[in-house]
Amino acid sequence: MAKLNPIKSYQMWINGKWVAALSGATREITDPGNGDLIARVPEAGPKDVALAIDAARQAFDAGPWRKTSALDRGKYLFKIADAIRREGQFLAELEVRNCGKPLAEAEFDVADAANCFEFYGGLATKIHGETMSVPANSISYVVREPVGVCGQIIPWNYPLMMAAWKLAPALAAGNVCVLKPSELTPITALELARIIETVGLPPGVVNIITGPGAGAGEELASNPKVDKIAFTGGTVTGRKIMVAASSNLKKISLELGGKNPNIVFADADFEAAVDGALFGAFANQGEVCSAGSRLLIEKSIHADFVAALIKKVPRVKLGHGLTPGVKMGALISADHLKKVENYIKIGISEGAKLVCGGRRPMGAEFEKGNFLEPTIFDHVTPQMRVGREEIFGPVLSIIPFESESQAIQIANDTEYGLAAGVWTKNVNRGLRVIHSIRAGITWLNTYHPTFNEMPWGGYKQSGIGRELGLHGIEAYLEIKQVNINLDETPIGWY
Ligand code: NAD
Repeated sequence: MAKLNPIKSYQMWINGKWVAALSGATREITDPGNGDLIARVPEAGPKDVALAIDAARQAFDAGPWRKTSALDRGKYLFKIADAIRREGQFLAELEVRNCGKPLAEAEFDVADAANCFEFYGGLATKIHGETMSVPANSISYVVREPVGVCGQIIPWNYPLMMAAWKLAPALAAGNVCVLKPSELTPITALELARIIETVGLPPGVVNIITGPGAGAGEELASNPKVDKIAFTGGTVTGRKIMVAASSNLKKISLELGGKNPNIVFADADFEAAVDGALFGAFANQGEVCSAGSRLLIEKSIHADFVAALIKKVPRVKLGHGLTPGVKMGALISADHLKKVENYIKIGISEGAKLVCGGRRPMGAEFEKGNFLEPTIFDHVTPQMRVGREEIFGPVLSIIPFESESQAIQIANDTEYGLAAGVWTKNVNRGLRVIHSIRAGITWLNTYHPTFNEMPWGGYKQSGIGRELGLHGIEAYLEIKQVNINLDETPIGWY
């Protein structure tokens, strides 16, 4: 593994300037794969966030950004996409060091971030209104305008990609942004700020602050100068954000958690479904909101399928994300590792059958990182906590089922509604089941691939609204109707 770079001290990006926290406080950022100190970042408090919000407010209300044409906004985004690609390898390695994932996955995330800026760069010029010419002698038209100052709060599992998903549509639509990455993974967002500096966006249009949810995040969610809050994170935090945002009735978008069913019917392509079940559960160490963490298997193939999963699990090679060949990296933090381990204890005590993993791996290379073996529980029931709650780690809960209707019933028996997968060669059945599941992102005979061009988001307590695609830009636009009277005659009402 390559030697790590020297520790870097970062500053925040507020109003077109690099600044420290007003208090001078900093946070140490460590590599979850080996415990190395990799960076220090400012620890913003509410006052720092308020300054960033003021800068954004000023940039929106009085700066040149509102007069920047859609074409030019798009060009800025293309430049950001190009710069991300140029620095792709650097950014991917940094992402591995900050959040533990395997390099191949980080490379994918960085490419996705660049593609997202490019997609919305192209979309900036395609924001259209509508017209109507009834009743006679009048014209009504609709214009779409930016919402204004957008507070954007993101989690630690896809730091750069989530920053792109937030910033790109907001900027394409003409908004200004204050983005807060997770306190655990702020580094690539700050590198993105450096890239944004190089493309020359006007001061205050993008502000990137680093700090915890308590204080910094709360200020962003509650400050009345913020017009919209876009949040990705846990459902419990999502509820708090809604309450805080109610102070001035901010527009709100929430992308929250999931406990997603991945359903395998007996007639599925067996090998493809085994691969899909493992990838659905263990990609990004299972730290994925859309992870297929509930595997529903038809009873007639259940025993064979579980045996095939167990046989293949050793191919999920654990290690530091920068070690060649590694397929699963470290969990984000020691606290999170303990939380996931606690769920393993809960599963055992509930009577689920631990058929593989469940322990920290042995060996010197694992000693300083937050590693956990890929873990599978069989004979989980929908009532068990490991069958209902989002664990957000490499823990797969298998629930056998007997009929299509029972599979649908179990799949929908959750407060969440983010994603779902179905494996069957019977396309009619596959679509029937998908249409019966209350979830926003679904797959037939695959798991996980999604596209910047398509909407991302959940039903039920998995969120409010959609990111990405055409829907994603709508979430950053207000709609104004303009009514024009073509007849000068007084209306004669009085
Ligand atoms: P989290 O809710 O703990 O934190 C997310 C962000 O919110 C962080 O930046 C944090 O600092 C901030 N925050 C925390 N408390 C806050 C408060 N009271 N006010 C304002 N901001 C606050 O989530 P996490 O642990 O970082 O991420 C894991 C969660 O994110 C999982 O539940 C996962 O499902 C979800 N997630 C959802 C999606 C999606 O697209 N639906 C994508 C990725 C992650």
